[in-house]
Amino acid sequence: MRTFSTTNPDDDAQQALRLLGPAPANWVPSHPGIDHNLLIIGGGQTGSAFAFALQRAGIGGVSVIDAAAEASQSGVWLTHARMHTLRTLKNLVGPEGPVTALGFQAWYESRHGQEAYLAIDRIPRTAWAEYLDWFRGITGTAVRYGTRLVRFEPVASTALPHFRLHLEVNGEPRTETARKLIFANGVAGSGTPFVPDLLATAVSKGLAAHTGHAIDFAALAGKTVAVIGAAASAFDAAAVALENGTAEVHLFARRSQLAATPVARVRGYPGLYDNYLALPDATRWHHAARYRRLGTTPPPDSVQRVLKFPNFHLHLAASWQGAQVRDGKVIASVHDETFRFDFVIAGTGYTHGLSQRPELAGVADLVLRWRDRFEPPAHERDDELGAAPYLGAGLEYLEKTPGTASWLRDIHTYNPGGFASTGLPLGDVPSIRGYVPAVVRRISEDLLLADLALHEARTRAEVPVDFDETLYAGAIWQAGAQRLEA
Ligand SMILES: Cc1cc2nc3c(=O)[nH]c(=O)nc-3n(C[C@H](O)[C@H](O)[C@H](O)COP(=O)(O)OP(=O)(O)OC[C@H]3O[C@@H](n4cnc5c(N)ncnc54)[C@H](O)[C@@H]3O)c2cc1C
Repeated sequence: MRTFSTTNPDDDAQQALRLLGPAPANWVPSHPGIDHNLLIIGGGQTGSAFAFALQRAGIGGVSVIDAAAEASQSGVWLTHARMHTLRTLKNLVGPEGPVTALGFQAWYESRHGQEAYLAIDRIPRTAWAEYLDWFRGITGTAVRYGTRLVRFEPVASTALPHFRLHLEVNGEPRTETARKLIFANGVAGSGTPFVPDLLATAVSKGLAAHTGHAIDFAALAGKTVAVIGAAASAFDAAAVALENGTAEVHLFARRSQLAATPVARVRGYPGLYDNYLALPDATRWHHAARYRRLGTTPPPDSVQRVLKFPNFHLHLAASWQGAQVRDGKVIASVHDETFRFDFVIAGTGYTHGLSQRPELAGVADLVLRWRDRFEPPAHERDDELGAAPYLGAGLEYLEKTPGTASWLRDIHTYNPGGFASTGLPLGDVPSIRGYVPAVVRRISEDLLLADLALHEARTRAEVPVDFDETLYAGAIWQAGAQRLEA
């Protein structure tokens, strides 16, 4: 069995790129007054996957921005993800697409050997962050960190529709323009962290926070902490609190058991995964609503991590009825019991409130949502899901009222807001294999057709021939001459 490279660990990756050959030259023309063909908002695994796939499709003029000051502060991996390993399987196709030499396994084996890769059950979280950094480097993806999209508006009056982008670059306002947008803006990319109303006062007084926010766990030492929610993030936050010396952690789950009833898993069912967008709305809604109703099951290692602590207490079928703040404590009523907590952590997921994100607030009312398109049966009603955008085949926004905002088709959204439409939390690793190529294909088609006359002119123009008659003149059969010699 091969161990690891004794020379440069990047040799195999460089060789793979060499064999792949140079990326096609950019075929998308630039236009006066338009800075970028595409702006990708978010430089995490999704933004990086798109940047590489677009490069290999010969689509240039792509700019990737990220509001984070630097890679280590972007996305979740080194910020508020608190598990030791990824929750997804280690062998999924990631941002490398079909170029396996640029995948996590190749990267990991080149540094630690094949046996080390075989020995890990899941990908260590920090190794994944390190790999993504490496992937951006080797594929030449430059992310403009410290650059936030604040808002944007369509500029439809010119010959070529595009967007005016209001950016904040290291705190300074700046305006740029782009023809298309890809929102690769993370798990809260279509809304915000959802904090139950009953925690509003506690949050405002610094006595509660969402798992998606920064939490000073060291400050919780010796305190009594509540965690609301029973998905992976809730358990991970509980574990970190316990590891930081909290006096007690009480985790409250709505459901009466932790392991959800098995749900049809799109990602493990190729027929469904590959054709999800073609499914009837009723089928897609059923899967999404059922999945949300049952809740996601925390991975066993997240559960085992908290079970090591005798001061961890699990409350099942225990929804909070109320919460008040009194004398610096959060007083919670749960059924007939009252609890006093020093701090509350809400592991309660994310919303689809497009208007809650400043950069989307200006378009939110124009976007077609599932509730505009589909009336679920009463037993499958889910208002939060109904607020999710109803995406087109290029994962683009569609118009709520046809004819009012055709430019929405140039906004491609790639975050969990697309769950009802695609059956997957877009942005998670399992979504990359199928949906990134599909969106790139659509972007390619849109850009081609938008400049069709120019492309026609380019491809119909006479090009100089490679060689002239002199190359083969000596071999041309001279019928008369041959007869004479005979
Ligand atoms: C705790 C936790 C654990 C998870 N574990 C897994 C897992 O094991 N496996 C898995 O597949 N998925 C997991 N996920 C889902 C995970 O979020 C995604 O898989 C992954 O982070 C998505 O990558 P991304 O590039 O789409 O988004 P992110 O990595 O979140 O990157 C989005 C970027 O967009 C930037 N951004 C947002 N808005 C703007 C703006 N207006 N202007 C400029 N930049 C902006 C942000 O700064 C951010 O860096 C987890 C999520 C959480 C919260």
